[in-house]
Amino acid sequence: MKLSTVGYPRVGTLRELKFASEKYFRSEITTQELQVTAKNLRRVHWETQRNNGIDYIPSNDFSFYDNMLDTAVLLNIVPLRYRELQLSNIDTYFAMARGYQGEKGDVKALAMKKWFHTNYHYIVPEISDNTEISLKGTKLFDEFTEARQLGIQTKPVIIGAFTFLKLAKLVGNKSIDDVADRLVEAYVTILEKFDTLGAQWIQFDEPYLVHDLSLDDIRLFERLYQKILLKKSSIQVLLQTYFGDIRDCYREVCALDFDGIGLDFIEGNQSVDLIQKHGFPLDKILFAGVINGKNIWRNCYTKTYDLIVKLQQNCSNMVLGTSCSLQHVPYTLKHETALSEDYKKHFAFAEEKLTELEELKVIVESAQPFETEAFINNKELFNQNRNCTNENVQKRVAAIRESDFTRLPAFTAREAIQKKEFHFPLYPTTTIGSFPQTTDVKANRTAYKKGTISSEEYVLFNKNKIAQCIELQEQMGLDVLVHGEYERNDMVEYFGECLNGYLFTEKAWVQSYGTRCVKPPVVWGDISREKPMTVEWSVYAQSLTKKPMKGMLTGPVTILNWSFPREDISLKECAYQIALAIRDEVLDLEANGIRIIQVDEAALREKLPLRKSDWRHEYLDWAIPAFRLVHSGVKPETQIHTHMCYSEFTDIIPAIDSMDADVITFETSRSNLSILDSLQEHHFQTEVGPGVYDIHSARIPSVEEIKYTLDCMLEKIPAEKLWVNPDCGLKTRGVPETEQSLTNMVQAVKQLRNKQ
Ligand code: GLN
Ligand code: ZN
Repeated sequence: MKLSTVGYPRVGTLRELKFASEKYFRSEITTQELQVTAKNLRRVHWETQRNNGIDYIPSNDFSFYDNMLDTAVLLNIVPLRYRELQLSNIDTYFAMARGYQGEKGDVKALAMKKWFHTNYHYIVPEISDNTEISLKGTKLFDEFTEARQLGIQTKPVIIGAFTFLKLAKLVGNKSIDDVADRLVEAYVTILEKFDTLGAQWIQFDEPYLVHDLSLDDIRLFERLYQKILLKKSSIQVLLQTYFGDIRDCYREVCALDFDGIGLDFIEGNQSVDLIQKHGFPLDKILFAGVINGKNIWRNCYTKTYDLIVKLQQNCSNMVLGTSCSLQHVPYTLKHETALSEDYKKHFAFAEEKLTELEELKVIVESAQPFETEAFINNKELFNQNRNCTNENVQKRVAAIRESDFTRLPAFTAREAIQKKEFHFPLYPTTTIGSFPQTTDVKANRTAYKKGTISSEEYVLFNKNKIAQCIELQEQMGLDVLVHGEYERNDMVEYFGECLNGYLFTEKAWVQSYGTRCVKPPVVWGDISREKPMTVEWSVYAQSLTKKPMKGMLTGPVTILNWSFPREDISLKECAYQIALAIRDEVLDLEANGIRIIQVDEAALREKLPLRKSDWRHEYLDWAIPAFRLVHSGVKPETQIHTHMCYSEFTDIIPAIDSMDADVITFETSRSNLSILDSLQEHHFQTEVGPGVYDIHSARIPSVEEIKYTLDCMLEKIPAEKLWVNPDCGLKTRGVPETEQSLTNMVQAVKQLRNKQ
């Protein structure tokens, strides 16, 4: 039995690549010095895998920024505006990734998008009418040769032609059909070149295949690969899929001349069925993704062994591997010194997953698999009580009734009650919650965490900030105020730290994009709230003003989506646990005089399943109820707001409306208001605050500009439903631009009101 990984993390166990790149961006080190760091990291990653018995070790999974961008550069897909800067190769690359502003010009970065439903982001390549697709770059070959010089034979990895075409943006008049042939030629050249270099395998990553595919998609895929594979001689080609199953094209994939097919048995619900139903071609090797590349829990060998045995009934040739690249999990548990062994033994990060593969191999090859040490130890681990259950929480979840998901009275009646309750002027103004997290705010938090200031000092500092923030908002004339969120580092981490059932790591970083990494908290056990988490801050803030103060919470779906979830209970169950904890907070805020409460669901959209056919039953059917559970207990007079970061929810508008919030604010500035048409079309009933300006840039919008935006909005949204606010929290902005922008916003609204 041989072992394979789809890809390995690349930023370094201690984020060496991040720090080196950032130094390079600040011109503190040279290109050569940056290359040395990169080369070292690649060596360590290859050697780690070799030392753990991996047979198919990937190369070219390393990247200075992103693999889609690498592929674009390899294929000469570099837009003219970046070439014209006449920078070195690596600086042109970074200009595409991050934009360039300097003596040679001023060019924005290419667009960045979420990589399927992970928290990783890729750079969107642009193909224009005069793009000359051809094999230009050498990174793919250089890294293969580099590994061979270290005595390691690798399997070069590259994004496949189909996924590349589906994700790239065609910016001119040409269609996919017009560019497909040139792309095919480039891939053929890659195969030829590797043949000469003596590579035995090449891996084409084709995750796009796990979507719902149209007939045209399938035809395109076939057409591309019939041509690419036609000229293949001795090199063997692995078609690697991940993030789901390939039910729409399984038979077509099997019929093509691939030598290996990589399937995901973790997220691919139907992968086993497909093999059992249609068989697996005798002349191909199945690369079975049995180790989860996206979550950090230990693999359960009993289950995996059963799976392998089942698969062996249909395929005689099998390689064991990861379900997707390990870049989505942290490197190693070795650096987690604060977590006790009792916790750590239940986790496997990238390096520990390599050990799991090795152990599975021993088990599978043994004449007495159940007697092997690895099997016995693993079984014992899974039989142990993890000490993570809280009976009260479980009882509470079990006791949830259908009626708990419904707030009464219904929306229209509430809306009328709230209009009387609050007497807001037309177009009420507000903000999304956070105010600038200036250096002093961060320093105060760090000092408190380090123990250099007392908790009284910490609180006092924040209370002063809150007071200033309220004074400012009153001066500007906003209608619904916020306390500014000075006590929070991050909207999920803050609640994770307050809730029972969460664990935190020290070094478990995962790349989010480029040099940015995140450290998701871990859901260890049943989630409960020990005591109020935000009430003190909100009540203090409300005591300083007569205007309504918005309580500010993060919703259950977002908290869960930005964590590593448990695997022993369903996401639904976990979301309901968190929802009950947040519900208690909502009710406490209400009982303490907070009349407006915002529950942020910034990440609701992003974990929608890749297949539309799975949206309802796998996700929305629990995600929306979880949100409803949070607020269904409040009085009709209490106004519930929610906020979402992306407005790309055109396709789930009815679901968003059925969250049954009273007001929703969301980002619009970057998607040119097209969502408003869809809201109108669907008779969206929730009151809406589409962001009137973009907080992601330091630019100050003028009064005129905001008035114009509001006029456009009023063509689609009834005046009595329109709220006015920036498009997201102001945490990352500076103070002067925030004051000026908000002042202009309120000014624009005043002029509009006077006109009426
Ligand atoms: N209330 C949060 C804030 O204002 C929302 C952040 C977000 O949507 N990402 O920062
Ligand atoms: Zn937001």
